[in-house]
Amino acid sequence: MLVGHLAVGFISKRIEPKLSLGTCLLAPLLADLLLFVFVILGIEQIEFGSGSGAAQFLHAINIGYSHSLLMGVVWAALLAGAYYALRHSVRAASILVAGVISHWVLDVISHQPDMPLAPGVNTELGFRLWSSIPATLAIEGGLWVVALIAYARMPARRSWPWWIVFGAGVLLLTLSWIGNISGPPPANPRTAPMASLIFITLVVAWGHWLNRLGSDPATNRLRGQTPIQVDSRG
Ligand SMILES: [Zn+2]
Repeated sequence: MLVGHLAVGFISKRIEPKLSLGTCLLAPLLADLLLFVFVILGIEQIEFGSGSGAAQFLHAINIGYSHSLLMGVVWAALLAGAYYALRHSVRAASILVAGVISHWVLDVISHQPDMPLAPGVNTELGFRLWSSIPATLAIEGGLWVVALIAYARMPARRSWPWWIVFGAGVLLLTLSWIGNISGPPPANPRTAPMASLIFITLVVAWGHWLNRLGSDPATNRLRGQTPIQVDSRG
């Protein structure tokens, strides 16, 4: 999944405005970020075959450290623990735990049966949502639209620069998702993991940028600034 994971991030921000949107997006993307780091380091392996859409061409050979349920719990505890140490919010840290673990659940729904329970355990799950483009557009796309609306309608002051950065990012992400579910495999499989790692880093940076542009009262209170007036017009 791609925009399905991002949807979890936007909904997290809506539930807990104190969290930066960048952190909210990092949690559900953490497993993929780790995957590409581990692939570059040679710890995990993926292969690109042929066919249209990632459901066809992407083959997970060994992804137990980044993508198993057990390690998902470990990564969630590490991210949430680091957040709690810095910000002392149990509620926000719990939402990050849910965000990290949601990656496994959503990947099980969308992947071929390649999602491990633990490193070295052979039981692998996957309900192949991504094999059907119409079902993916309806379910993952529906989740994406609902999450974007929920986020955009938060009580916060939205400036023109915010709308431009938000709209352009959403358009690019939607196009890369369509490319992912229906397009060809990466032109250069050797550089694809690094390109994907840079892509995820940019998405998280985009979230932090949006957070700064679209200040909301709760975030400012946390930073010790004067709360700005809430503009309910959106
Ligand atoms: Zn994944």
